[in-house]
Amino acid sequence: MHTAFGQSTVLGYPRIGGDRELKKAVEAYWAGTVDADTLESTAARLRAEVWRTLRDARLDAIPSNTFSYYDQVLDTAVAVGAVPSRFTRLGLSALDTYFAMARGVDAEPALELTKWFDTNYHYLVPEIDAGTVFTADPAKALREYAEARELGITTRPVLVGPATFLLLAKGDDPFARLDDLVETYAEILTALAGAGVAWVQLDEPAYVADRSPAEIDALRRAYTRLGALADRPRIFVATYFGELGDALPALLDTPVEAVGLDLVAGPGNLHRLAAAGPLGGRTVVAGLVDGRNIWRTDLRAAVAAGATVAGLADHVVVATSCSLLHVPVDLAAETGLDPRLAERLAFARQKVDEVVLLGRALRDGTTALPAPLPPAPAAWRHDDVRGRLAALRPTDRRRGDYPSRAVRQQERLGLPELPTTTIGSFPQTSELRRARAAHRAGDLDEAGYVRRMRAEVEHVVRLQERLGLDVLVHGEPERNDMVQYFGEQLDGFAATAQGWVQSYGSRCVRPPIIYGDVARRAPMTVEWSTYAQSLTSKPVKGMLTGPVTILAWSFVRADQPLADTADQVALALRDECRDLEAAGIRVIQVDEPALRETLPLRRADQQAYLDWAVGAFRLATSGVADDTQIHTHLCYSEFGEVITAIDALDADVTSIEASRSKMEVLDDLAGIGYARGVGPGVWDIHSPRVPPRDEVVEALRRAVAAVPARRLWVNPDCGLKTRSYPEVEASLRHLVAAAVTVRES
Ligand code: GLN
Ligand code: ZN
Repeated sequence: MHTAFGQSTVLGYPRIGGDRELKKAVEAYWAGTVDADTLESTAARLRAEVWRTLRDARLDAIPSNTFSYYDQVLDTAVAVGAVPSRFTRLGLSALDTYFAMARGVDAEPALELTKWFDTNYHYLVPEIDAGTVFTADPAKALREYAEARELGITTRPVLVGPATFLLLAKGDDPFARLDDLVETYAEILTALAGAGVAWVQLDEPAYVADRSPAEIDALRRAYTRLGALADRPRIFVATYFGELGDALPALLDTPVEAVGLDLVAGPGNLHRLAAAGPLGGRTVVAGLVDGRNIWRTDLRAAVAAGATVAGLADHVVVATSCSLLHVPVDLAAETGLDPRLAERLAFARQKVDEVVLLGRALRDGTTALPAPLPPAPAAWRHDDVRGRLAALRPTDRRRGDYPSRAVRQQERLGLPELPTTTIGSFPQTSELRRARAAHRAGDLDEAGYVRRMRAEVEHVVRLQERLGLDVLVHGEPERNDMVQYFGEQLDGFAATAQGWVQSYGSRCVRPPIIYGDVARRAPMTVEWSTYAQSLTSKPVKGMLTGPVTILAWSFVRADQPLADTADQVALALRDECRDLEAAGIRVIQVDEPALRETLPLRRADQQAYLDWAVGAFRLATSGVADDTQIHTHLCYSEFGEVITAIDALDADVTSIEASRSKMEVLDDLAGIGYARGVGPGVWDIHSPRVPPRDEVVEALRRAVAAVPARRLWVNPDCGLKTRSYPEVEASLRHLVAAAVTVRES
C-alpha cells in the first residue's frame, strides 16, 4: 500500500461551487422543482470539479468527504448513526431525513444551529444521550472516495473526530459516550481500509480551546484505541483555530501517524512542537496558509516557519491552517476590484497554489518565490483618523452616570412603563429586493429608488403607529445586509462580486474586505432616519451596526491589531451618532449581535478581546448627550462568558434574545448587577409561528418577576426582515396587547 502523505494539502475546500451552484440546487430540491437524482448529479459534478481543481493545481494530498449538502457535523452524525428517533420516526428517505434534521419539518423542529468555534459558519448540534445507539454508516465517505478514484484521484476522507463530535453535541453528558463512539469510528476506519483508503483525516479542533485533564486523557484513550486497530488507514488528526496546548503531547503518546497544527491562528504551536520531544517518525501537517482570511501569504515567513518544523519532524506537509470553507472560491471571478487590492488577495483557489509552492520550496529549497508586495498605497492611509485615535482620552469612552441619564431621557421621551419597540428591520419583501437590485443595476434611477424606499419607510411607520408601538424604527428597507450596507459607505472597505462564503446550509454571505484606514465620507443613515422621524411624533430609533459586528462579519486587515481597526470603525460610528442626534433623533440603537461570536476560544485571551470590544462600542456611543438614549441589541444566546461585558457596554437599553431560553438571561443579568434598561425578546422571530397574546403576557410576567417594570422593554428577539407582513402584524399586535395587559395589572 502507498502510504506517503504527500508534500502539500488543504484541510478542506469550499463545496458551494464558484457560482453557488449547490445553494441553487438544494433550494430547488426543497422547493420541489428538481428531484433527488438531479440534485445528486449536480452534487457529484461539484465534487468532481473540486478534486480536478486540486489535482490540476498539483496538490499531492487531496481530501474527500468534505462535500456536504448542509453541514459536515450533520454528515458525521449520520455516519455514526446519531440520528435522533424523532427524525427516523418520520419515515422519510435518507436524504429527506437528513434535511429534516437540518431544517425541521412541521411536526419536528430542526437540530439546533450554532457557531462553529469562533467563525461565522454554523453547524448543527448533534443530540446525544444515554439512549443513542451508534452504528457505523460509512456510505458517504466510501462513495466520495470511490468517485474520486474513478477520476484517477486518490483522496483522504475527512470526518469530524470522535472527541470533538461529542464536545460539540448536546444532551445528557454526551462526552461520557466517547468509548462507545470510538468503537463505531473503529468500524468506519476498518471499512475505509477495506476500500483501499490509505489516509484518513479526523478533525479535532475542539482541543485548541481550554480542555480539562479528563478530556485530554479521553483524547489520548480514543486515539490509542483507534491506532491499535489491526486494519486501518493511517490517521491524520487535524487541529485548527488556535494552539493545541496539552493535547499535543497527549496525541503524541498515541500511534497516530500525522498531526496537524494551525501555525496562523496558533503561532505558539511551533514552540509547543519543539517542547514536545521526539516525534517518532511522525508527519507534521503545518498549517502555514491562512484558511480564514483572504490575504496573500507572506511566503518567506511561511518558508522559515516550515523550515523550523522540518527541523523537528521527519516529514512535513504544507497545508492551509484550516478548511478553505471559510474563504471565497476564486479571486479570478473578481474583475471589479482595485488592482492594487486584488494583487494582495488570495481566495481558496489561490491559496492552493500557495500551498503547492510552499511544499516545493520546503522540499528542494531552490524554488523561486514571487517578489514581496509593494507597500500599501498611501491613499489607503487616513492621517486624520490616525491623529484622532492617537489623541483619544479615557473620557471619550465614558458617558454621564446612568441614573441621571435615565431621568433626562425619560423627561425627553415620556415613555409609558414597559415601552414597546422592535429590533429594526421589517419584512424584506421580494418587491423591495427587486427595487434594490434594479437600482444597483442602473435600471432604477436614484430619485425613483429614494421614492420607493421612502414609501416603504412611510408604510412601516404608519403600521407601527397603528399597532401602538412606543419607539418606532424606519424598517431598514435600504439595507441589503447590516454590515455590507456600512461597508459600502466607508473608506477602507471593498465589496466583492462573487466572494460568497457558506454561513449555514444553503445560506451564503459576502463579507466585505477591510483593507485600509476606515473613514466616513458622509452621513450614512441620517436621511432615512430623519425622514421616518418627520412622519411621526413618536420617537424613531436610529439604527447602526456596532464595530465588533462590522469586524466579525468582514475580512479584516492583518497588518494592524484588530483593536485599532475596531476603533477606526467606532470613530465613524461616533460621528454618525452625533449627526443623528443633531438631526433630532432621540434614540439610537447600535447592534452588536456578534459580540459573543468572536470571543477567543481560550479563556486566557478573552479579557483582552472584551476590553477592546467594549472600548470600541463605548467610543462609538459616548459622543452623544446624556438625554440621547443608546440601545444595543445582541442575539445568538449563550451570553454566559460575555455577560459582564454586556453590562460594561453601558448602553441605556439592551435588547437580547431570550424567548428560546425562557428569560433565563434576565437572572444572569441581575446576577451581575445589571441595572439599566433591558428588552428580553418575547417573540422568537426565527420561527414563522405567531405567539398568542397570553404567551407573551406570561413571558412578560416572568420578566417582571426578574426585572423592575420601569426598566423593562417589550420587543421581539431580533429583526423582522425574514418574516412576512401577516405574521409581523399579528405578532406585534399580540406583543402590544400583552404589554398593555401587564401594565394594567
Ligand atoms: N437591526 C438589525 C435588524 O433588525 C439587527 C439584526 C441582528 O441582530 N442580527 O435586522
Ligand atoms: Zn438579533
